[in-house]
Amino acid sequence: MALEPFDALRRIAFLLERSRAGTYRVKAFRGAAQTVADTEPDELRSRAEAGTLGDLPGVGKATAAVIEQALAGEHPAYLQSLEEKSRGPLATGGEELRAALRGDLHSHSDWSDGGSPIEEMVMTAIELGHDYQVLTDHSPRLKVANGLDSARLTRQLGVIDAINKHLDGSFTLLKGIEVDVLDDGSLDQTDDMLARLDVRVASVHSKLKMAKAAMTRRMVAAVQNPRTNVLGHCTGQLVDGERGIRGRSDFDAGAVFAACAEHDVAVEINSRPERRDPPDELISLALEQGCLFSIDTDAHAPGQLDFLDYGCARAQQLGVPAERVVNTWERDRLLAWANPG
Ligand SMILES: [Zn+2]
Ligand SMILES: [Zn+2]
Repeated sequence: MALEPFDALRRIAFLLERSRAGTYRVKAFRGAAQTVADTEPDELRSRAEAGTLGDLPGVGKATAAVIEQALAGEHPAYLQSLEEKSRGPLATGGEELRAALRGDLHSHSDWSDGGSPIEEMVMTAIELGHDYQVLTDHSPRLKVANGLDSARLTRQLGVIDAINKHLDGSFTLLKGIEVDVLDDGSLDQTDDMLARLDVRVASVHSKLKMAKAAMTRRMVAAVQNPRTNVLGHCTGQLVDGERGIRGRSDFDAGAVFAACAEHDVAVEINSRPERRDPPDELISLALEQGCLFSIDTDAHAPGQLDFLDYGCARAQQLGVPAERVVNTWERDRLLAWANPG
């Protein structure tokens, strides 16, 4: 069955993001998809016939070819070649865990440093078969990432309610935050705001080189905070990719994971290929200490929502049982765990 031009362009953007193509190329396809959505079908057809699609904003040679081929009822060649390169999961060895996952607890929209609107992230999460997705845009102190203050977060919560109202109930966009862990271990958002959310991921993004004792105190304090549900990318390491290599923060992992186990906080297995955080030996340590886990994408673009394959492959190979992974749980069980009492 032939795809509509809009769907073909979206699908190409998804596959490019999934394969970690440069943002410039992805933007061309997302921009052209938007233009198609904003253009009357009759105008699109007459322009395709006249060869003037390229006069529309954001439509270039490659995207015009996709639109023309889709309108002609053909499967666009560019999409075809991408699909051939994208067969199968992104990583092998995690298929059972991946099949057990019902959602993802860590993702960003263009409200902070993500590349796409919330609605596009939602459409893609639904297409991936998720029951829920937690939107976790950044907290105010992370200014480089356009972190949300209380007023903007309050507005975002209204948008989430409106989106959920338009869905049929089989998928829920959950309210969340990736809240910065401040130097003293407190969280970068008011307790009142945190209380209004469904799930809170606490992450260290600053002073990653703090001395070991201070960093341990800081992380333990964040984990002890009753609002914290997930400890995000705990070592801060970067092993690959555009942002270069970064070593791990120095902290007493035994003490931090003991606090996670005691306070029912999940240790995040961050699926981003450039993070692979925590490293294997720390996942094994957290497993021994009885911690819960959440396997998250930390997606900043829709195609990255498929990164779960990477985290699942690592977790399954290290023997993490599905029952200990909170995002294998049904939505209501997840919500009861994240909001006890
Ligand atoms: Zn983060
Ligand atoms: Zn994040």
